[in-house]
Amino acid sequence: MRLSLPALCGLALATLTACGTTPPQTQTVEIAFTLRAGTAPVYCGGPFGPLGTPAVTATLRDARLYVQDIALIDTTGTAVPVTLPANDWQQPGVALIDLETGGPDCAGTAATNPVIRGTLPAGTYSGLRFTVGVPETLNHTSVEVTPAPLDVVAMNWSWQAGRKFMKVEVTPTGGVTKPDGAKTATWFLHLGSTDCTGNPAQGGTVTCQRPNRLPVTLPAFDPARQAVALDLTALFSGTDLTRDQGGAVGCMSGPTDPDCPAVFGTLGLSLTNGQPVTPGQPPVFRAVDVR
Ligand code: CA
Repeated sequence: MRLSLPALCGLALATLTACGTTPPQTQTVEIAFTLRAGTAPVYCGGPFGPLGTPAVTATLRDARLYVQDIALIDTTGTAVPVTLPANDWQQPGVALIDLETGGPDCAGTAATNPVIRGTLPAGTYSGLRFTVGVPETLNHTSVEVTPAPLDVVAMNWSWQAGRKFMKVEVTPTGGVTKPDGAKTATWFLHLGSTDCTGNPAQGGTVTCQRPNRLPVTLPAFDPARQAVALDLTALFSGTDLTRDQGGAVGCMSGPTDPDCPAVFGTLGLSLTNGQPVTPGQPPVFRAVDVR
């Protein structure tokens, strides 16, 4: 039997290209995140650790972060941007990672989002790059009218200051002692832009002296079998979680807060100008095998 050329092309999948059909030009990618204390997973509802200096056990209260400028790194070292389709947890340009699983110890709901979903040109990729933050053009918007995931009130500071880029809250065993000797339960890390001027509610342009966006590069990352770990042991390695030394309880990015130098140090951010000190791979984030 002799088959026509179209029939042959229909049968011989391996020769589709020769028949004029081009291979897929885009591919999908899912980039997973996971919360760890060292190597141990961290969840709401039970003690973890110990962590900090001195080391104490703690329970989790919140762990959420916005991520922008997501790219996979190809075999030539080029960062190829990942396009984010809109869903409840992301819109073009920004995604919200929510690792807080709800329950009596935690601040939010049981809903979580550990995964960024996107597309990029088909290719061979070996690394990952992203920035903890919200793009400047999206940051100073109304939480009431901006689509998800920028509508989360718990991640909002104000129109002028924008969003909390990263919110990690832990409740150490025995509580937190404030400078006046009073006790409070939870140590707060809120990372976001500070010293912002301009009134976006009236159409003004906002300028922030300290952007506090954190670029992260994982040179070797395989999204098919690995996740990005946020390691709370590394994050709080130089922090005494049982004490607040002044300013906001914990560190809310205040440049004069005596609790901020240690945690900004582990993040690799300058508390003076809000820029990364050594752009690259802060030890707070690393690739871990999950499959
Ligand atoms: Ca403080």
